[in-house]
Amino acid sequence: MSKYLNPRFGTFDAYVPGEQPRDRQYIKLNTNENPFPPSPFAQRLARQAAAELQLYSDPEVKALASVAAQRLGVKEENLIFTNGSDEILYFAFLAFCGEDTPAVFPDLTYGFYPVFARACGVDYQEIPLSENWEVIPGDYAGADGTIFLANPNAPTGIALSSDQIEKILIANPDRVVVVDEAYVNFGGETVVSLIQTYDRLLVTRTFSKSYSLAGARLGIGIASEGLIADLKKIKYSVNPYNVNAMTAAAGVGALLDREYFEKNVETIKENRAYLAAALQDRGFCVLPSETNFLFVKKPGISGGELYRGFKERGVLVRYFDLARTKDFVRISIGTKDELDFLIRALDQITEAQK
Ligand SMILES: *Cc1c(COP(=O)(O)O)cnc(C)c1O
Repeated sequence: MSKYLNPRFGTFDAYVPGEQPRDRQYIKLNTNENPFPPSPFAQRLARQAAAELQLYSDPEVKALASVAAQRLGVKEENLIFTNGSDEILYFAFLAFCGEDTPAVFPDLTYGFYPVFARACGVDYQEIPLSENWEVIPGDYAGADGTIFLANPNAPTGIALSSDQIEKILIANPDRVVVVDEAYVNFGGETVVSLIQTYDRLLVTRTFSKSYSLAGARLGIGIASEGLIADLKKIKYSVNPYNVNAMTAAAGVGALLDREYFEKNVETIKENRAYLAAALQDRGFCVLPSETNFLFVKKPGISGGELYRGFKERGVLVRYFDLARTKDFVRISIGTKDELDFLIRALDQITEAQK
């Protein structure tokens, strides 16, 4: 760090992305990527777009907006597109938090929320999950600031119903509520239709998980025209061309190739049930997941030991070295072959323990 860095950034640790090692081939089940490649149609449209990269991309991403609006049952005015959903979340912290408006979120959730708060120089309040790792809607009544909820939550995988989210909206009549639906296509209920009733609800989506486009970086914000106008003010103040032309084209292709999307989501759900059963057979506690990952622990072995045991055997999983999560690892749902490899590695780890 140099002496020139704004002191605000000197006082906290930045977000640590899941490791992407290049030292050897790993089975990567640590960052919730989709194990399947992007839709071939999405790939083709992206290649076509590459031939016109001498031009700036469309800041309004019109072609994508029209397809997405139709798919989501909203108007184009209800949409904003960003460089991954991390960027829409960042815009939301900039737009809807401030000196007198802290951010409010669960004590165990997406690790980027506290980092965004600090990067934006706003306070935040963490509300503990229940003993069963659930968000308790009543705990958010009369919240002190802007509420951020990942639903389904990460890294637990547990979802609230849309009625429960609506309760939180009703119990906070003057607050913006941001619902991060990064995983909603794998289960759980969306609250997109509630934007018609609540003009202070922002729903965020990503193409990184269910659409196999993590490397393309594409996110969507869905909200009332008023909130979208606020977020666009931020976008046009920092980076109007935040979605590049290849990514926008890939997004159109991914949305239009519905069959491919549905097939992959279905396979991941089947594989999730397969892995959950295999782990339960081996004495694991598996939290009920509506996502493309499982958050699991086994009595007698720590999360760190599992993480290291897997890594030695060529499998990467995610381990969060925090007091509350040190018994757990988070395993992304891969292909059936990848999961079988992981299960064999697990049997070796427990054998070596004896
Ligand atoms: C993966 C993830 C995101 C961010 O995804 P992008 O790749 O930036 O679109 C946002 N929220 C949660 C809870 C996630 O797990």
